[in-house]
Amino acid sequence: MKGLILADVKIIRMMDKTLENGYSDSVPVYIDKNGEISNNSSTITKEEFSLLQKYTMRLLKQISKEILSGNINIKPFYNTKTKKTPCSYCEYKAICGFNTKLAKNDYMYINFDSKEEVLESIKKGENRSEKS
Ligand code: SF4
Repeated sequence: MKGLILADVKIIRMMDKTLENGYSDSVPVYIDKNGEISNNSSTITKEEFSLLQKYTMRLLKQISKEILSGNINIKPFYNTKTKKTPCSYCEYKAICGFNTKLAKNDYMYINFDSKEEVLESIKKGENRSEKS
């Protein structure tokens, strides 16, 4: 599985009952010999989850307001790492009107900052959708 997991060894071991220490086969977590969660695991604290939930709700409200005020710009994301967009496999390509062959396209560029950088910028109150 990919994604974030609560940084709680008890919960991690409930999700992977075979995990003693080392890398889990089913969740993106490494437990060291002392039974601690390694820093390179995809875990965040309960407080950080709460922060992400609040940020996501704020972002959804902002997007909703923009749509309701008439902003229906087509702006698919562009993965700056893989240089790919969802348009290459999207089932709505024929009807949405976004032309991927145009040189000047308006994409939402996604930068893959580290987990710590993302959480830090959210804590500072930055709008990550404008950080492109
Ligand atoms: S083809 Fe259109 S609807 Fe599909 S991802 Fe691209 S912009 Fe969005």
